[in-house]
Amino acid sequence: MPFQPASLLGAPVSEPMDTHTSNVPPSGCPYCEYVYDVTTSVGVKAAPQPGDWAVCYNCSQFLVYDADLKVRKPHQGEVARLTQTNPKVRRLLEQAAAVVRRKSQL
Ligand SMILES: [Zn+2]
Repeated sequence: MPFQPASLLGAPVSEPMDTHTSNVPPSGCPYCEYVYDVTTSVGVKAAPQPGDWAVCYNCSQFLVYDADLKVRKPHQGEVARLTQTNPKVRRLLEQAAAVVRRKSQL
């Protein structure tokens, strides 16, 4: 399986790893309605592609890019399937969510 990047929506990331910040079509998080038009891919220097995973910078929920590069909630069982098929991406998502939760506690 090819490596899929994980993205942190709405904010640059200062973690010491490969990142790539890119513009995406303006859209809202389906959980918290936070509106964003920029995303940072973590682990690769590439813009997000449809089907890639992301974490909301406001609420830390896991999201998936659709064909228009807007985000949707994962389908039933999709996160569990990711854990089985691509644990590296799952770990990146957990790390990104932890960054968001730390920010929220400041
Ligand atoms: Zn959100």
